[in-house]
Amino acid sequence: MKKTEQVARDNLATEDHKSQQKAEFDWDAVLDGVKKDLYFPPSWLFSIKTAKVEGKIVTLEAKTHFQALWVKNHYLQLINDTARNLYGEGGFEVTIDVGEENSWTKETKKNRAPDNHRGIESHDPQTASFFSSSNTFDNFVVGPSNQFAHAASFAIAENPGMAYNPLFIHSGVGLGKTHLLHSIGNYILKKYGTRMNTFCISAEHFTNGVVQSIKTGSMDKFRNLYRLNCDVLLIDDIQFIAGKDSTQEEFFHTFNSLYTAKKQIVITSDKPPSVMKNFEERLKSRFEWGLTADIQPPEVETKIAIIEKKAEEEKIGIPADVASFVAQNVLSNIRELEGSVNKLFAYSKMFREEITLELAKQLLSNLVRKEAPRIITIDLIQKEVSTFFDLTVKDLKSNQKQKKISEPRQIAMFLSRKYTSSSFPEIGSKFGGKNHSTVVHAVKNVEKKTERDPSVSNAVSAISATLEKFITS
Ligand code: ADP
Ligand code: MG
Repeated sequence: MKKTEQVARDNLATEDHKSQQKAEFDWDAVLDGVKKDLYFPPSWLFSIKTAKVEGKIVTLEAKTHFQALWVKNHYLQLINDTARNLYGEGGFEVTIDVGEENSWTKETKKNRAPDNHRGIESHDPQTASFFSSSNTFDNFVVGPSNQFAHAASFAIAENPGMAYNPLFIHSGVGLGKTHLLHSIGNYILKKYGTRMNTFCISAEHFTNGVVQSIKTGSMDKFRNLYRLNCDVLLIDDIQFIAGKDSTQEEFFHTFNSLYTAKKQIVITSDKPPSVMKNFEERLKSRFEWGLTADIQPPEVETKIAIIEKKAEEEKIGIPADVASFVAQNVLSNIRELEGSVNKLFAYSKMFREEITLELAKQLLSNLVRKEAPRIITIDLIQKEVSTFFDLTVKDLKSNQKQKKISEPRQIAMFLSRKYTSSSFPEIGSKFGGKNHSTVVHAVKNVEKKTERDPSVSNAVSAISATLEKFITS
């Protein structure tokens, strides 16, 4: 690792000799050198310009407050090292500021509601580490399914590092994990401004960083980026690092050093820690050190409230019967709920038509057909259980005795008894011809375990929540 860095520095040093006589500060030349040393240069770095050179002091100009802060915390030392290589000791001293015209405050005042702060545009893949301004606590609708996760997130945002650490939020897709994570980021930014350095990244982004820094031999720099510069680490979709040993190793150490320094960590995942597959035990146990909060699929009332909130934001009227129709027919998640509502809004805007129940039924007909309420069958239970545990239905029906298969099988039998009217022998026959007493034993066993084993009770309640969405209303 050191070797690559050294070579880069040597190259720079040689090139530098030639330019050492150069009296004028050349930002492009410095940037060229910096680029070689970065495993992940964000695209906006190249839009930074020299604002002024006063004697030996060079002031760079960033477009936004956040870019300036980011450069200050992560790149300024490297920029100054590179400048020193080019112009020698006692050459230029580089600092950075936000350009007057583009200053963050002005931008906020001009274009945005004052309480709607944001980081760098989050659709730029290079800067995806920042949070989206459209996900705030203000536009997060709270209902019984998400109130615990919401309350915990809010407590963290109020006092990072002081409430629960880490906060671990889990749910199925499209139920609001990312929204809550970004709400925490936005709230901290608003409350603490530059005093608190918040990193909001996906686990995929973290993994890419690890891969890049292994490739370029700059692991130390990567480590320092997270371990020394971060006050709040918001990491989304941690399940992405399942089975990725080096990334888990890095994350483990990052976690430890932030945790020891009492820096806030918030993690989201599609599953509770206890049932995460291909994760080191030491990581899983750390995920449970603080508070674990889940988000369940929303109740009809919450879905109606979300639809009304969206309509309010879009300044579109939506009759109660339409909201109720959409809420009852979109079963799976809030992302799909939004998709349906947006379709209605777009149509109504384009053709200047009022939204009526008839129009909604017509426009969303495929949704209704696809998602018509069903009854819970053993087949469905087997499908949901196997998906949850990353197994196949065949595994559940097999005779394999390992715990990682037998426990999900018993849970599936338990749920079959709970949600269908099938008898014990009928259930047994659906599980590859098991006998009556095997099923009775399984049901009793799971009943017992749900009382004292959180991994079993979490799995049972998560799968039950998914299944209940299929019950005929
Ligand atoms: P996840 O990260 O769990 O997959 P997201 O946070 O991306 O889900 O949520 C999916 C969509 O639903 C987003 O557009 C989000 O803003 C919206 N959403 C989720 N929960 C709520 C809520 N409680 N109130 C308002 N919008 C929500
Ligand atoms: Mg998400």
